[in-house]
Amino acid sequence: MSHILVLAEISPHGHVADSARGLLALAARLGDPVAVVATREPLADDVIARLGALGAAQVYQAQSEHADSALVAPQVEALAAALTALNPVAVLLSHSFDGREAAARLAVRTGSAVLVDAVNVRAEAGRIIASGSVFGGNYLVDSATTGMPVITVRPGAIDESAPAVSAQVTSETVTVDATKAGVVDSYNEASEVSERPELLGAKKVVSGGRGFGSKENFAMVEELADALGAAVGASRAAVDAGYSPQTTQVGQTGVSVSPDLYIALGISGAIQHRAGMQTAKTIVAVNKDADAPIFDVADFGIVGDVFTVVPQLVDAIKSRSA
Ligand code: FAD
Repeated sequence: MSHILVLAEISPHGHVADSARGLLALAARLGDPVAVVATREPLADDVIARLGALGAAQVYQAQSEHADSALVAPQVEALAAALTALNPVAVLLSHSFDGREAAARLAVRTGSAVLVDAVNVRAEAGRIIASGSVFGGNYLVDSATTGMPVITVRPGAIDESAPAVSAQVTSETVTVDATKAGVVDSYNEASEVSERPELLGAKKVVSGGRGFGSKENFAMVEELADALGAAVGASRAAVDAGYSPQTTQVGQTGVSVSPDLYIALGISGAIQHRAGMQTAKTIVAVNKDADAPIFDVADFGIVGDVFTVVPQLVDAIKSRSA
């Protein structure tokens, strides 16, 4: 079978990013999944076992003294070395900040084409085809390249797992020119500021819009999110009005999410907002305007006032989980 490289993002403390699951599942559909990791020290057995459990038939660990300090360059060197060694038919990366940068650098290095923000990838008639969700999620566009594609995949878009395997480990040493990379002086694992899941890649998202009218009222969005164990999102209007931080903005100029459940509260559903959430598997909308465009994409809609509906939802959820 043909090798498919997956860049596994792993923190210096050995945490495997959630994106690895979907990327390895896609890779297993297309060929032999190889998890590529840039690492300073040899990977711990539990990290290798975790990658195997996620479907990596092979773990290609590229060691460099700069792996924890230089930004992205070690991952690019790791991928380039794996490319030379394994001659894969595709490289898959998360459409995360690091994944996007690594994809671009690798493509420049290898003269490959980049297909970005795919929501699905398949093999057809000997070609690898990436599907992208465009124009506010209204169209799926299939793209293919001549030669080996470098593909970034939208976090959360792939809701499947590859069968667990026992991963073979290949070790290589790579040389990273740290003078040409941003360098981290010291590294601290971000202390958990919130119990909530991260928006990017979350399975459930509760988002609020201008309909809440104030930052104080927006707390209701957070209350429902906490009752459901969901991440908090916001429309740009809510962000611009200061109800919620910019990091929570969902949409064309914010984060793109593909959760199992997306609840839009007091959000009209402008095309720029829908661009970032329309691939959610189930969409629930609450809006007092029955003609709000968000209802065009909602699976379930409540025409009503968020100040009446949301507290009832929170009570109902809490009473079920009590
Ligand atoms: P509004 O459009 O004002 O809608 C508020 C909604 O709340 C209305 O439908 C109203 O009926 C409802 N409502 C009011 N009170 C209540 C109540 N008490 N109970 C129930 N419902 C109520 N937007 C994004 O979200 N993300 C982006 O990334 C983004 N990028 C953009 C990029 C560009 C280049 C441009 C031009 C715009 C972008 N926008 C983006 C802005 C977008 O066009 C909309 O202006 C924005 O999404 C509107 O946010 P909203 O739905 O919260 O507000």
